[in-house]
Amino acid sequence: KAANNKGSSTIPTTRFEEIGGQEHAKTELKEALDFLLYHERMEAYGIRPIKGILLAGPPGTGKTLMAKAAAHYTDSVFVSASGSEFVEKYVGVGAQRIRRLFQDARKAAKKNRKKSAIVFIDEIDVIGGKREGGQQREYDQTLNQLLTEMDGIHVDGDVRMLVMAATNRKEMLDPALLRPGRFDRHILVDLPDKQARLQILTLHARNKPLSPDVSLDKVAQDTFGFSGAQLESLTNEAAIYALRQGSEQLEPAHFQAAIDKVMMGEKTDREAAH
Ligand code: ATP
Repeated sequence: KAANNKGSSTIPTTRFEEIGGQEHAKTELKEALDFLLYHERMEAYGIRPIKGILLAGPPGTGKTLMAKAAAHYTDSVFVSASGSEFVEKYVGVGAQRIRRLFQDARKAAKKNRKKSAIVFIDEIDVIGGKREGGQQREYDQTLNQLLTEMDGIHVDGDVRMLVMAATNRKEMLDPALLRPGRFDRHILVDLPDKQARLQILTLHARNKPLSPDVSLDKVAQDTFGFSGAQLESLTNEAAIYALRQGSEQLEPAHFQAAIDKVMMGEKTDREAAH
């Protein structure tokens, strides 16, 4: 089931407080979400509703977490898919799936008695990449269907819809996607700085027995360039090292070994790519 979660809907429990760092991104996102929460007030001022929010930034920085937290914050159902799920050999299948995704979102909202739904599309660049030299692609219909769905989101409908998308290649996106009324809000979800790394490490070390000798501040210092996902992986690896050594607590050496392992993993990934 997990492997085939196309259009699966959930009521997310992720809260913004569970996301380390990203203070600026969280503030910007919450501001945008107020359009959904306080839509009546916005309408009274004739303000156009926000339909699309683009989260851009490197892999593993918490874009999916942000989208889930957005759904929790606005008490919306959350329906998600990845751009690569829409790439199909047969023309029209991808477009059909997009239609279904939006239908599922509306249905799930009604079923769960929610007033709003967030549709999240990860790796949007897979279906929304630039059309070079006007060339036609087999997935143009998919992109067009997405644009049609977004243009058709009306405030006067019974379920308010918001589309969120994530990419780590924003500059590759087709300008049609970025026009007003589509993904016109862009939020940068960047790699964490030292302070943010400390916050993320603290979050992921919460449920682990840390030796008093461990300084997460030092770990944060030593992990320049790590993403949130890598920091999560690092705390998990440190716990595995401690367990294997029969140590009751996670010691500084376990963290050091885990840092090396995550860095090495990166290196072998890069070598494999060459
Ligand atoms: P991708 O672009 O690869 O899809 P993403 O930006 O959507 O990645 P997530 O899927 O949100 O990243 O993050 C993966 C995991 O990494 C999370 O489930 C979480 O454990 C950890 N993580 C990433 N960023 C953070 C963060 N800012 N705070 C806490 N945990 C984080």
